[in-house]
Amino acid sequence: MNLIDLTIHEMQQQLADGTTTAVALTEAFLKRIHATDEQLNAFITVCDEEALAAAREADAQRAAGNVLPLTGIPVALKDIFVTEGIRTTCASKIFGDFISPYDGTAVRKLKEQGAVIVGKLNMDEFAMGSSNENSAFGPVRNPWNSDCVPGGSSGGSAACVAARQAAASLGTDTGGSIRQPASHCGVVGLKPTYGRVSRYGVIAYASSLDQVGPLTRDVRDCAIMLGAVAGYDAADSTSVDTQVPDYLANLEQGVAGRKIGLPKEYFIDGLDDDVKQAVDDAVAKYRELGAEIVEVSLPHTKYAVACYYVVATAEASSNLARYDGVRYGERVDEGKGLIDMYSQTRAAGFGDEVKRRIMLGTYVLSSGYYDAYYLKAQRVRALIRQDFIDAFEQVDCILTPVASTAAFGLGEKTSDPLQMYLSDIFTLSANLAGICGLSLPCGLSDNKLPIGVQLLGKPFGEAELLQTAYAYEQASDWQGQLPTL
Ligand code: GLN
Repeated sequence: MNLIDLTIHEMQQQLADGTTTAVALTEAFLKRIHATDEQLNAFITVCDEEALAAAREADAQRAAGNVLPLTGIPVALKDIFVTEGIRTTCASKIFGDFISPYDGTAVRKLKEQGAVIVGKLNMDEFAMGSSNENSAFGPVRNPWNSDCVPGGSSGGSAACVAARQAAASLGTDTGGSIRQPASHCGVVGLKPTYGRVSRYGVIAYASSLDQVGPLTRDVRDCAIMLGAVAGYDAADSTSVDTQVPDYLANLEQGVAGRKIGLPKEYFIDGLDDDVKQAVDDAVAKYRELGAEIVEVSLPHTKYAVACYYVVATAEASSNLARYDGVRYGERVDEGKGLIDMYSQTRAAGFGDEVKRRIMLGTYVLSSGYYDAYYLKAQRVRALIRQDFIDAFEQVDCILTPVASTAAFGLGEKTSDPLQMYLSDIFTLSANLAGICGLSLPCGLSDNKLPIGVQLLGKPFGEAELLQTAYAYEQASDWQGQLPTL
């Protein structure tokens, strides 16, 4: 088997028995990146030298008997994680050649577990988008069909795993940005519970919604990656001080007797036939595996998109105020004074979608509209969260589509921002509610593009969620299906 086709757990095996080395793995992935990325554009920065040095160090550590779960495993990072010594762009011009003096916590943890960072991945600018077309570095192409988007905003993170350019990646998910691209690229993507993974060193979009998570080839790899990055961090006051379970310990427990809820509001008109079929088949499979399927209701679902686009843009307008040409990156200064320098810098540095969000967010926070929009959205958010708390009284997990269609064509939705915003209709409630959610491959569309099913779990219920996903994955035909590239 080709080295790049291995999962993390298979690599661990081969590294342990001496069949391969970290250097061989890293060389294989770097070669693959250089052979395919002109077409895919999944990477903004490839770190050949740093990766090979880290791989040599990993092999030395292994020879000395110091073996950790990710020792020698090549992974890649969405370019929203700051990395010491390696450029971070957030896919925006405004960062210029910004190089962070420190590693974000998730990055530090991966390195401490022995991982080899092969590069920084393309994304929508500031993680705003659902197609990866809002990047200052150009769009990412879907490895299954290069005329299609990979999804967004973690489009590079999903495409690179599907295209076997890295064993796994990290993304962030504010309204679906891990789960939706995972679905469109046919990989596993997990958005942990808010507070499960530290956001320290993650460039902020909407701080009350942002969460870090893995994109992987299979569920076991997802459990390994989550275990590596989860946990309390004193540097992020919103990270929660609760024990990190061993996500691999009971992975094979099965779903017999588990209750899975189907929210009736999610099986709506507008769902493509092949998506509906694939999700129905997944439900049938769970029934066969012994789960009990129960209808549940999340009555405030219809307000989720509107609520999200008020809360997220409000937080974005505040978070992005710091990019003023004084402290970071590029500055445009025509010598006409400070205010002019601010506005010239921001006009030149931000892309259209980012500007749209800043304007929307500033509007909903302005004194005349704060109560009518922002405060009201916060109230709606509480109702959406309560819907989930009520549903989880009845069921262990909730199953829904990830997106209403498979990957759409490049350019298909760029002229209509509202259509683009609607692509997140099934994913953004989980962020508003703060719960965990996972996207799992469950079929192929008529035009041979992957379809994902979404499993939503209780707060800090990642272990159970991974068990539920694993049971389906082992019983389904979709495990490990990858594009031929
Ligand atoms: N597509 C959504 C947005 O544009 C979600 C993005 C995300 O999760 N980062 O805001």
